[in-house]
Amino acid sequence: MTDRYCVFGHPVSHSKSPVIHAAFAEQTGEALEYTAIEAPRDGFAGAWRAFVESGGRGANVTVPFKEDAYRLCDTLTPRAERAGAVNTLILEADGRTRGDTTDGAGLVGDLERCGVTLAGARLLVLGAGGAVRGVLEPLLAAGPASLHIANRTAAKASALAADFRDLGEVSGGGFDAVEGPFDVVINGTSASLGGELPPLPDDLFAPGATAYDMMYGAEPTVFLRWASERGAETLDGLGMLVGQAAESFMLWRGVRPDVTAVLESLRRTL
Ligand code: NDP
Repeated sequence: MTDRYCVFGHPVSHSKSPVIHAAFAEQTGEALEYTAIEAPRDGFAGAWRAFVESGGRGANVTVPFKEDAYRLCDTLTPRAERAGAVNTLILEADGRTRGDTTDGAGLVGDLERCGVTLAGARLLVLGAGGAVRGVLEPLLAAGPASLHIANRTAAKASALAADFRDLGEVSGGGFDAVEGPFDVVINGTSASLGGELPPLPDDLFAPGATAYDMMYGAEPTVFLRWASERGAETLDGLGMLVGQAAESFMLWRGVRPDVTAVLESLRRTL
């Protein structure tokens, strides 16, 4: 029987994961099937069990199930434990479910591929939701000089900073307390979804700075347009999406796919 994988979400029909993993499978010669499954909002654990019984070997997990996935795992990687969320489920040989989170590795890998230096950089991360929590450990592991978290709800940024302070020079607060300049600014808020821009000072960017928006689309987000007008290099989150998928594929199959080729063909479909 062909090994089965899927992405669970609700809704999930928009997900690009089936296309990405089909491309990885073709590229690496791995025989697998990958589909999108819309799990019931209150029935994630049951959907995973049913999938395993039908031959499922692993899954990606997207909104709104990343915390449900975290709770159902028998074992967790340290980075998933810290993130409090799981985007990759792995069925182990003994039948237990292991959880990992690959979003952060996807982001850091994308920044590295694009030639962005994180070591020694002054880093600003906008937002304090699930996506940001999931990327902080790998960002800090890359060795920035400092990492500041700014969020609309300042208390959430301060609390998140406190949770990660043992890993580096981390601070947090509201948008009004942002003091640049920064070498790398990562927008992990969902403001771009509604075409909104967090209130940020004009002198945010150091010379040669990079602005990264975790969101992606056919057109640059309002944040990336704003950053470009202020001289920053801009990158969107499509590379993070393909990168996190590649990390999951590696966990399941032990083969690392080539991200660049798949990213280029996916961008042409946006
Ligand atoms: P959450 O709902 O957990 O968090 C949303 C965050 O955005 C909060 O910090 C919230 O602030 C902030 N926010 C929402 N609206 C505004 C606004 N109008 N102005 C300023 N701040 C705002 O979402 P996630 O963390 O899961 O996702 C965040 C973004 O990251 C989404 O756009 C998502 O698409 C993207 N993403 C991309 C991935 C990729 O692979 N490229 C992977 C995962 C996520 P507050 O706390 O004050 O409410």
